[in-house]
Amino acid sequence: MHAPARPATPLDRAATVLVAGSTGLVGSAVLRHLHARGFTRAVGIHSADLDLTDRRATLDYLTALRPAAVIDAAARVGGIAANDAEPVEFLNDNLTIQTNLFTAAHAADVDRLLFLGSSCIYPKHSPQPIPESALLTGPLEETNDAYAIAKIAGVTAVRSYRRQYGRRWISAMPTNVYGPGDNFHPTRSHVLPALIRRFHEAVATGAGEVTVWGSGTPRREFVHVDDLAAACLHLLDHYDEPSPVNIGVGEDLTIADLVALVARATGFTGRITWDASRPDGTPRKLLDVSRLRATGWKPRIDLAEGVRDTVDWYARHRA
Ligand code: GDP
Repeated sequence: MHAPARPATPLDRAATVLVAGSTGLVGSAVLRHLHARGFTRAVGIHSADLDLTDRRATLDYLTALRPAAVIDAAARVGGIAANDAEPVEFLNDNLTIQTNLFTAAHAADVDRLLFLGSSCIYPKHSPQPIPESALLTGPLEETNDAYAIAKIAGVTAVRSYRRQYGRRWISAMPTNVYGPGDNFHPTRSHVLPALIRRFHEAVATGAGEVTVWGSGTPRREFVHVDDLAAACLHLLDHYDEPSPVNIGVGEDLTIADLVALVARATGFTGRITWDASRPDGTPRKLLDVSRLRATGWKPRIDLAEGVRDTVDWYARHRA
């Protein structure tokens, strides 16, 4: 590893830290983590209080609050079907939210910012595991290219604010995230919450068969949202360079193995059928996490344990 251009400075625990997107899976976990780590002035934005697609309102909010740091976990997100069906909203909303937030943060003189992207910014046929250097080296996966382009624009914006204005802004690219508080919508959600819901319901209703999408051969990597939240703070404390940093666990599994894991965790023993008319998406998406590891961070929550906890959470909160 090359030496950083300048050492990162840990975030001041007494400073005001704003978490954008704090009602979502990632943002709510980040806010919980900051509070647990002694940030007494960490605040979230509820979508009811501030619409981040409203430029003026975002500017007014940030310039009034004047946070020392912003963690941007605000985005329109969804699984493969939602991305495929609504590319216009995934592109426009994400570009608008990012631009408004970055413009307002700069106007409010916010010197520390962490932008959260996604592993889907990398080309469809990237080397595996995917290093950060794979960015912009090939065509994207078609089912979520609009979302990916918006996130790539975010990474470029962060780099540009660093270069042009000397801002200590950084970006991180998490792999597939899961955990309590996820979106469990039957068709719009990501694979793990979708499976948890479907298998849980099958067990509850005594259905003997569950249908899952695609071929089962794609490979995916999953990070628990509490691990991701810890990684975000770790990066703000220890990393200050223009290149994004991948956040992952360093291991993946096939969708078929994931399905077996969820079936076990929910107690489903019936038949599993595959709906081949549903898209597989990108064949493999395993992140190279050596840059993150070099900063001294590694995940704590094992996938089987994390899935069991998420199944329990879902069972308690389903109503
Ligand atoms: P991706 O990682 O961007 O491709 O997004 P997803 O999390 O939505 O899908 C990951 C993989 O899981 C794809 O290969 C899907 O075909 C597969 N999959 C299997 N069953 C489901 C399901 O019920 N919902 C979703 N979203 N994906 C599923």
